[in-house]
Amino acid sequence: MTVDLLIRDARYVVMTDDDTGMLENASVAIDGGCIVAVGPGLDTDARDVIDGRDALVMPGLVNLHTPLPMALLRGVAEDVDLQGFLERVWAEEARLMDPRGVYVGARLGALEAVMSGTTTALDMYFPPADAHRAAVEVGLRHVTGPVFFSFPGPDGLAWEERMALAREWPATLAAIGGPAVPPALMPHAAFTVGIEHLREIADLARAQSALVHTHASENDRENADTVASTGLRPVGALDSAGLLGLGPVLGHGVRLDDGERRLLAATGTSVAHCPGSNLKLASGAADFVGYRDDGIRVGLGTDGCSSSNDLDMFAVMRLAANLSRLVRDDPASVESREVLAAATLDGARALGLGDRIGTIEPGKEADLVVLDLRAPHLVPIRDPYTAIVYAAGRSDVRDVVVAGEVVVRGRRPTRVDANAVMDEADQLVASA
Ligand SMILES: [Zn+2]
Repeated sequence: MTVDLLIRDARYVVMTDDDTGMLENASVAIDGGCIVAVGPGLDTDARDVIDGRDALVMPGLVNLHTPLPMALLRGVAEDVDLQGFLERVWAEEARLMDPRGVYVGARLGALEAVMSGTTTALDMYFPPADAHRAAVEVGLRHVTGPVFFSFPGPDGLAWEERMALAREWPATLAAIGGPAVPPALMPHAAFTVGIEHLREIADLARAQSALVHTHASENDRENADTVASTGLRPVGALDSAGLLGLGPVLGHGVRLDDGERRLLAATGTSVAHCPGSNLKLASGAADFVGYRDDGIRVGLGTDGCSSSNDLDMFAVMRLAANLSRLVRDDPASVESREVLAAATLDGARALGLGDRIGTIEPGKEADLVVLDLRAPHLVPIRDPYTAIVYAAGRSDVRDVVVAGEVVVRGRRPTRVDANAVMDEADQLVASA
């Protein structure tokens, strides 16, 4: 049998629930976009081969909260709190973020993401079709959908126009193509979308089997603003609208009280923990380990380049690990493998993609990352998870495969010209 792609003679962390640690001198055979075999002594003909000697292969990273087009807003609002940040960002958005700006920004963000080992991203920005087209062109598995505000919002759409866009969204996704993703509906937050409108979104999400993604409890001020407008904190507002039972993904979830934590665990709600953004905006320290102990699924996200400046999930893994040790005052509170699981399989499960991606095993789609181990900071490898979380960085990402396609090879993107993407972004910011 001849397969499409063989990654041969590498070390692997496969991240299945029952794996027994690192595989050595093993190969992965990929055909028709899927993993067909994993293991040592695998010798099959392949149309394409990646030599894995001196390499460690891991599942692709899942960035669970990242407005990709905001790559264009990198550095726009520094040294301010969340509310000061929003004022500056909104002004620059008005200047740059027409559909063309969103497309150019999403290409830049998607390129940064895949070159950094991210294979899947959950992106809340608008208009979603322009961002999706850009990200799919670069080769990213890109989950997005219409964003909702109860007022006209930065994009100036009336409520009915948003709902119309949302009803069309599964067809729009199908027309654009790209790696398989669920449709998503994205109410911005419980303080910007009224409860009646949240209920409409819940109904549509049920009808479409859509993923719901929203911001919740990013800082104390957001909680206070939500109480002022709805009488409830964000989690309570989402619950009263019937959204929590749909297993949504909550961006940030920094300031959650005990009752809210129990509710999120009981409803299968996921939290996208974004320690880089939360630290930089001094929003607070989400209790990653406490959430885990409460039974909440936690994935990791970078948030946007406007707040955390880059899309580096290796940096986020290290921050998440060290921050939770500090929060818990306990160096044994979290293990590296759990942090890598949050950035891979748990993120995939949060998106409803846990049976398609997130691990390296036969039957799954091939989303994986090849790290170059010939670097002084990665010698010796005693424990691969610790090496990935505490020593590796995105510059070690050599090859990236999404849905069986090599989208980065030898640190270069295969589907787009990196210089053209960067030039386009620079020119747009300078000329708009
Ligand atoms: Zn955010």
